[in-house]
Amino acid sequence: MQKLIFLKYGELSTKKDNRNYFLKILHNNIQNMLHNINIYYDYGRMFIEVNDNNYDEVINKLQKVFGIHEIVVAYKSLDKDLLSIEKNILSLIKDKEFHTFKVEVKRSDKSYPIDGMELRKEIGSYILENKDNLKVSVNDPECTINVEIRLKEILIYFETIKASGGYPVSSLGKGLLMLSGGIDSPVSGYLAMKRGIKLEAIYFESPPHTSENALNKVKELAKILAVYNNDLKLHIINFTEIQEEIYKNIPHEYLITIMRRMMYRISAIIASNNNMKVLINGESIGQVASQTLTSMNAINEVVKIPVIRPLCCFDKLEIIALAKKINTYETSILPYEDCCTIFVPEHPVINPLKEKCFEYEQKIPYEDMIYRAIKNRKTILIKSNDQEFKDLL
Ligand code: ATP
Ligand code: MG
Repeated sequence: MQKLIFLKYGELSTKKDNRNYFLKILHNNIQNMLHNINIYYDYGRMFIEVNDNNYDEVINKLQKVFGIHEIVVAYKSLDKDLLSIEKNILSLIKDKEFHTFKVEVKRSDKSYPIDGMELRKEIGSYILENKDNLKVSVNDPECTINVEIRLKEILIYFETIKASGGYPVSSLGKGLLMLSGGIDSPVSGYLAMKRGIKLEAIYFESPPHTSENALNKVKELAKILAVYNNDLKLHIINFTEIQEEIYKNIPHEYLITIMRRMMYRISAIIASNNNMKVLINGESIGQVASQTLTSMNAINEVVKIPVIRPLCCFDKLEIIALAKKINTYETSILPYEDCCTIFVPEHPVINPLKEKCFEYEQKIPYEDMIYRAIKNRKTILIKSNDQEFKDLL
């Protein structure tokens, strides 16, 4: 028998006509994540042969690949006659400690001469006869013996390990994540990748009002996200000129609204220049003044591109729980200033009027400033598995 890993696709199995498209991308994403393996797949299962026997590490990494529903360590045999199957099972459970068990059979080879029910009974009786002190328990067995009868082979396994689910990253195209150093936006990025979106990220900094530490924190967050995304391109926009102009010329209750309209405009241009189909951000309804429904309207109206807000209906405690789960929380709470927090007015408008936004924006040469900010952007490639941040521009 050969020990190997196989994967159950979960949600992907509902994709009838496009399944091969998704599987090719999944195959590719796994290959990028893991090196010492061989992969092959068919319609129902993807198989992974682990060359260095380091199953724990392989499983750990596979749990970070979206599009996989369950991971199974299995034993494969080409010998399909019943007695061989039974002997193989017996040798696998020889040293296992358990008192109750059940047998589950999946018979995808419909031409196999014995039906599923009969197989379950036969294998169960054989085990009872050949291993001492065992009882069958259908409802609460200590050991479940799974047997899959496939066209070319038999698979035997005992447990399944939960993976992340979702769709393979990049199967649904590319999106631009507005990544601040806060708690919310990295979690949004994670959820977007889980729906199959390959991310690039954009960060607005305002030196000298924001420090190198704040930028490093964003790079650290990007590095955590890059694990799921293969690698992550981060566009860094110098926002100082725009922010100072807004601060000098616009009534302070509208600072945040206008500033966010500028962020949206710049993000939309970067997205469309790089074939990204959506913006993604960490907004959550009602969390701050700029996230009331009226504010969202006033801010969103400056772009045509769809804006996805994975956290819009989450409360803060749910977001924090997810941030802890994906390991971004500890980095996000490091106390470095954000470009929004520096220019925060005492009383931001909760229900901004679109006409006012338009009127105030006429006081600053924002189109020129946006052009310059985009022209002077820095783009770096953050790799998932090393410390290097590679300059692209
Ligand atoms: P977060 O915790 O993600 O910082 P927040 O609750 O502080 O979010 P805001 O500051 O209003 O909320 O920002 C809302 C969203 O706008 C953020 O989740 C992020 O997607 C985007 N954003 C805010 N500041 C920046 C920035 N400096 N660079 C890039 N995106 C930003
Ligand atoms: Mg923030």
